Order: sequence, then C-alpha cells, then structure tokens
Amino acid sequence: MTRIADGLARVHERIARACARAGRDPSEVALVAVSKVHPPEAVREAYAAGQRLFGENYVQELADKAEVLRDLPEIAWHFIGRLQRNKAKSVVSLNAVVETVDSLRLAEELDRRAAVEGRVLPVLLQVNVAGEAQKAGCAPDELATLVPAVRALEHLELRGLMTIPPLVEDPEASRPCFARLRELAAMHALHELSMGMSADLEVGIEEGATLVRVGTAIFGERPSR
Ligand SMILES: *Cc1c(COP(=O)(O)O)cnc(C)c1O
Repeated sequence: MTRIADGLARVHERIARACARAGRDPSEVALVAVSKVHPPEAVREAYAAGQRLFGENYVQELADKAEVLRDLPEIAWHFIGRLQRNKAKSVVSLNAVVETVDSLRLAEELDRRAAVEGRVLPVLLQVNVAGEAQKAGCAPDELATLVPAVRALEHLELRGLMTIPPLVEDPEASRPCFARLRELAAMHALHELSMGMSADLEVGIEEGATLVRVGTAIFGERPSR
C-alpha cells in the first residue's frame, strides 16, 4: 500500500469508528480529501486508492490540477478557500462545489456565471461561528437574510453550511462550534454540514457532519507554499 492509500484507509477507519459511536451510517459522511499544495500525482495516487472527491483552496491551483488530471473520469472538486469575486467565473467553469460562499455579492456573481454556463452550481454558506475577526464566513445572524436570498438565485443550489473552528490543540474545543452549525442548519432546513478536519473529524461526525475535509491525515504535512 502506498503512503497515501494507507492514510486514506486510516481516515476511513476513523470515520467508521466515529459513525459507530454516534449511531450513524458511514454512507452519510462524505470525505473531501484536501489536496491543496500537494502535487497532482498525490491526487492521482489517492484516486487510484478509490478517493473521488477532492478539496482545493486556490482557484489557480485547482485549475492547474483539474487540467493535468482531466483523464480521471470520476474526479470531483470542492472549492474550500477564500473566493474573490473576480475568480467566480473560473471556479464555475471548473465545475467545483463552492463551500465558501459568505456574502450575497459573491453568491450573485456565482449565480451570474453559472447562468452564462447554463448550469446550476451547488454551494454551501461558510459561517464564522466563533466570530473570529480574521476569518472568512458570514455571522450566524446573517443567515436569516442570506439563506432566503441565496435560495432565490436560480442558478445556485444551496445545500448547507460549512465552518472552520478556531485553531486549538484539543479537538473537543470544536464541539460547541459544530453543534451550533448543526442548529443553524436545522433552523434553515439545510441538509449538508461540512465540519471536521484531520484533528477533529470525529467530533464533526458526532455533531452531524455530512462532509469532512481532511488533508494532513491523508497526504501528510503540507509542503510550504
Ligand atoms: C486545509 C484545509 C482543510 C484540511 O486541513 P487538515 O488539518 O490538513 O486536515 C480543511 N478545510 C479547509 C477550509 C482547509 O483550508
């Protein structure tokens, strides 16, 4: 087994154990393998080991990888980085699910671009649950206006919410943040919950994650960019 295949197997094992503890079916939790900064060969290796869904943070890097890996018929991408409006066109043409919509202006730009391509773009709203000043994401209170406004856009399909908790050592520290995201999603009748990374995916699953975004535990430490 290659190192990446081994990492993937261990992450699947962690997901299965967390699901068992939480009384959930592992098929309810999709794994987004976060390949940012790792070379396309690493993605290819994960694909060979059965992984199909990959997450990227930078539009240009995603575009380059998608081009090099276009021979992989079932590969699918989630965009999980900060998205500038002037990159909306690229991300739409790359067919990526955008997990990081956090303003109506960005949603409207994505909607416009998706309309041009004659497509419906699946999106999640990123919520800054902990209210960290430097972090992207809308405030929980903004969802009351943002959710209906985004739902009204014909070329976007609003699937759910995503959050990145404050960076701390203890995975348990993410729990209140994840629980809050679940409540917010329920309040707005949204199904998809993207929460949990290498350090805290178990907590994410226990709190209802339907997507976990895992990089380091699959691919190893990221080379500096
Ligand atoms: C990098 C990144 C991840 C993956 O983090 P790991 O700790 O390497 O698993 C998940 N989500 C987002 C938004 C990221 O930027």
